[in-house]
Amino acid sequence: MTPVEQVLALVRPEILALAPYSSARKESKGGRVWLDANENPATPSAGKPLLNRYPEPQPSDLIARLAGLYDVDPAQCIVTRGSDEGIDLLLRTFCRAGQDAILITPPTYGMYVVAAGIQNARVVSVPLVRSTNFALDADAVLKAVTPDVKIVFLCSPNNPTGNRLDRTAVLKIVRTLAGRAVVVVDEAYVDFSDQPSLAGDIPANRNLIILRTLSKAFGLAGARVGTTIAEPAVIAVLQKVIAPYPIPSPVLVAALAALTPEGLAAAKQSVATLVAERTRLTAALVKLPPVKQVWPSDTNYLLIEVSDAAKAMAAARDTGVIWRDRSKDVPNTIRITVGTAAENNETLEVLSRV
Ligand code: PMP
Repeated sequence: MTPVEQVLALVRPEILALAPYSSARKESKGGRVWLDANENPATPSAGKPLLNRYPEPQPSDLIARLAGLYDVDPAQCIVTRGSDEGIDLLLRTFCRAGQDAILITPPTYGMYVVAAGIQNARVVSVPLVRSTNFALDADAVLKAVTPDVKIVFLCSPNNPTGNRLDRTAVLKIVRTLAGRAVVVVDEAYVDFSDQPSLAGDIPANRNLIILRTLSKAFGLAGARVGTTIAEPAVIAVLQKVIAPYPIPSPVLVAALAALTPEGLAAAKQSVATLVAERTRLTAALVKLPPVKQVWPSDTNYLLIEVSDAAKAMAAARDTGVIWRDRSKDVPNTIRITVGTAAENNETLEVLSRV
């Protein structure tokens, strides 16, 4: 089997055989009088975009700009409603309900388990190693991969611990599992890291899949724009599973604006500001008595250990400041997003009083 055939052999057979829905906008582009999609010729929306028309299923200009941003081929990209939809699509594409499994490395992003639960896929857990700042244990992961594991989810930089996973360890897992499982590297926070994306490694590793998002560095969480990057044959399969029109027209306008030269410069500036604030916040936090530990972060948040997380959370809530208690993942920890300088000062103020 070729490497592409090998990765396609991991897809649910019924999805491979599925004849996908063919939407009106997929079948005919252009034309003058549009009477093919049961749209209403009138629209209550003033100006552009015209909301009476269905949007392009995978807007080609958006795909082109995202591919440019991520330095990959447009055929390697599918754009989704946030990377959360990408996670769900992958579960439904690769895991047969009640038969297949995923592997995760907790503590990590919670949606992998939820998407697995929805698809009735078993979850194998191989914890990150706390004593080494939550490093990935590639050998332990490989040992735990049973034949039913179809997807290994690795989050790098990891939510909620903030660390990036070692590139060599990740690629070892990817290479060893070729033909056995796909490895999804969730890079939602990679823009805040010096670490390069692994997207460039896809042509040499057809079972590698990358998730990116405009929700973090680009400040577009409300627009819901995620990109799944993979071998083009895998993208073609995901196109069969995704709902017909996932990107609403106003979202397309917002995303395209964010990806103009000015938009890109603004995002770069925003990332630089947040990284500088992350450094300042870390330095100030470690000096506060209730703070036992601040883990190094490659993201726009910090995971901190405090003497009493419940007490600190309550003190923050009393002043209207909301953090995320991660004590269920790691005892007495709180995940604090890096905000504006003024917001970060509020975080420091609360913790100096606990
Ligand atoms: N992956 C990780 C690691 C995340 O933390 C999040 C958001 N909390 C997502 C994916 C989902 O991002 P999106 O807004 O693109 O759906």
